[in-house]
Amino acid sequence: MRALVIFARQNFIPPNTSSMLNADLNIFKFGGASIKDAASIRNVANILQEYKGQQLVIVVSAMGKTTNALEVVARAYYEGNVELANQRLTELRNATFTTIQELFGETPDNLAAAVNDLVVTIEWVFDDPPSESYDYDYDQIVSLGELISSHIVTAYLRHSGLPSVWLDARDCIITDNTYREGWVQWPETQQRVKQHVTPILEAGSMVVTQGFIGSTTENFTTTLGREGSDYSAAIFSFCLDAGSMSIWKDVPGVLTADPRIFENVTKLDRLSYKEAIEMTYYGASVIHPKTIKPLQNKSIPLHVRSFVTPAEPGTEISSDAGDVYPPMVAVEKEQALVNISTRDFSFVAEHHIRELFEHITTTRLQVNMMQNTAISFNVVVNDIDDRIERFCALIEDDFKTTVDRGLELITIRHYTPEVRESMRRGKVTLLEGRLPLTIQMAVKEVAVIARKEG
Ligand code: ASP
Ligand code: MG
Repeated sequence: MRALVIFARQNFIPPNTSSMLNADLNIFKFGGASIKDAASIRNVANILQEYKGQQLVIVVSAMGKTTNALEVVARAYYEGNVELANQRLTELRNATFTTIQELFGETPDNLAAAVNDLVVTIEWVFDDPPSESYDYDYDQIVSLGELISSHIVTAYLRHSGLPSVWLDARDCIITDNTYREGWVQWPETQQRVKQHVTPILEAGSMVVTQGFIGSTTENFTTTLGREGSDYSAAIFSFCLDAGSMSIWKDVPGVLTADPRIFENVTKLDRLSYKEAIEMTYYGASVIHPKTIKPLQNKSIPLHVRSFVTPAEPGTEISSDAGDVYPPMVAVEKEQALVNISTRDFSFVAEHHIRELFEHITTTRLQVNMMQNTAISFNVVVNDIDDRIERFCALIEDDFKTTVDRGLELITIRHYTPEVRESMRRGKVTLLEGRLPLTIQMAVKEVAVIARKEG
């Protein structure tokens, strides 16, 4: 069942082709942390000096935590608080100009004009009432972060003697109109990426473009989902048959677990596409989960490298080379366990499961784990906005539901009994599933349970 839900949409990616890769062309993605302030942008320019004269497409995220700030703006506007929306937008504009001044000394006129034009477009949005769809308004506003950062990076690279051209990713990445989670229209995107990128590279410039954003065929801005810039870079890599893609991060590569949560993590030198998909899907936040598939389909290697130690090789993700892996742990927070049983106490039969999955799909519940017994069906889902409530309301006539929130989903690949035990310590396991290579556990901290009951 689960496979149907996930792969139905992934099939849109054109399958394996025998096209040759262009070994001279690389796609680099710089995330928000790598361009968070003037010093960081200078560091990126230094890294790129090493690649001067090479064919490069540079995909950037919004600077630092800009996207979070813009989410506040979008929410305020949608809830009718235009004053707050304007205030937050002005703060962001001022912070942007402070960074620009630090970078350039004096603000270049064309950069100031570009940034001001972008900000004014959003101020115009505020003159009208919100649309019917929050997701639509969100995309129009939140896309500002990448549009601004890419202008700044382009201007600074030129200032540093690196020929570069700003490219609007919305002319290239075409999606359907699922706002906040646009689904890429591959044939159209492929044709447009080639059409817009190739002339710039042939003229000897680097391309600088935005992650995260795209456009419908009617020219409405869409976004690809939070943290989607990695995916954008993979789309460019796929469409251009890039020789490789690199994600530049503040960690030395892919680690066996999140160093913010665990001690004794080690860096992996190599990882197969398959392992990378398994781990990122279940919350290893190092790469956006949609990133791997387009690369795998064309055997484009993905490097995860550190912008702090750029000379180090990082981790290479490529085809399976029969590697043996240590235990790897991913933790996904904000999970909920939804227990579903029939109102008439009948067995949960196939036709029930079909009906449940129809509603799971329409409410965009993301299922991370599931199990059934004769009279109940259990799913662990991401607890996002009001999706669970909407789902429960839809099935209310036929099914009883109970929801247990505030859980973590722990996924261990290549587990050992010791690692499993250590992960369970201090926690109550509400649901566990085991396969030969993978254990998943939906757990609650003991302290949380005690606090609630006490
Ligand atoms: N700026 C977007 C976000 O923070 C996309 C990204 O960084 O990948 O979600
Ligand atoms: Mg990011």
